[in-house]
Amino acid sequence: MDSSIDDFSLLVDLRSPADLALRARYHPSLDPKQSKLVEVLAPYHFDEPHPCGLSSCHTPHKTGYLVVTDDNRETNIGGVCGRRIFGDDFAIKANLQDRRAQLKHQLDTLQAIRDNKDQFFARIAELYNRDTGTRWAETQLKLLKESLSSSTAAKLHAMAARGETAVTAEREATKEERDQHSVANSSAKPLRYVTEKVGDLQGLSFLNANPHRAATDLKNKIFELNGIDAKSLSPKRRRDWVTWANGIERSFDAIEEGLAEALRFFSRDNMLLVHKLDAIESQRGR
Ligand SMILES: [Zn+2]
Repeated sequence: MDSSIDDFSLLVDLRSPADLALRARYHPSLDPKQSKLVEVLAPYHFDEPHPCGLSSCHTPHKTGYLVVTDDNRETNIGGVCGRRIFGDDFAIKANLQDRRAQLKHQLDTLQAIRDNKDQFFARIAELYNRDTGTRWAETQLKLLKESLSSSTAAKLHAMAARGETAVTAEREATKEERDQHSVANSSAKPLRYVTEKVGDLQGLSFLNANPHRAATDLKNKIFELNGIDAKSLSPKRRRDWVTWANGIERSFDAIEEGLAEALRFFSRDNMLLVHKLDAIESQRGR
């Protein structure tokens, strides 16, 4: 047997017990005293346990292996019983098929992104260019920042990062407030200023999400994937790519959510409040 890890010729895709029954050589009950192990074909992970094919076991197992024996029969056996009955020969072959199945699954996952890359690029272009898309949001933010002091712009980002929304202003206390304060806190300093909430900012998490950069990162990542040989990556790097690939729809969702937040952020009322914050900041700075 060719033992190279990327030889997938023995592997079989088994999604449910029905896939076993469809195989011409499959036998649901095999006496291990009559048959010798030839090959372990493929691991399986079923949703429901399925009876073991060893006549001495027949215990339902959720996971196991499809094996072929010297009388040209196939059956499914659990990993533990396989090792008990067929020894190290089984363990070594099962381990190799596990690793091959895992590698094949990883390569297939990455290839699926490549096969659909034009579709992904079209979705990213649509996110860039729609009326209130990422380019629109990027331009609006640039214009807004040009109209604000740099300290207000920095404050907006800091509030977004901390999840704060309240805009507050200080004003001089009224005579009534000063009197009330001195009655309630006779030993405290006299009250001069009162902090009041002016409003809550909307859509600040747009600043955290940065949908235009997120869309660009996604595009670049797909380009990068298209240029690499996934088979020659280190196992760690390949796993990282697979994790990213499995999350690609979540990445698109995050961009959509960022754009929905941008609409709230750039709404008329919210922009009025941002400019109020700017006025309060410039007074504080004096
Ligand atoms: Zn078993």
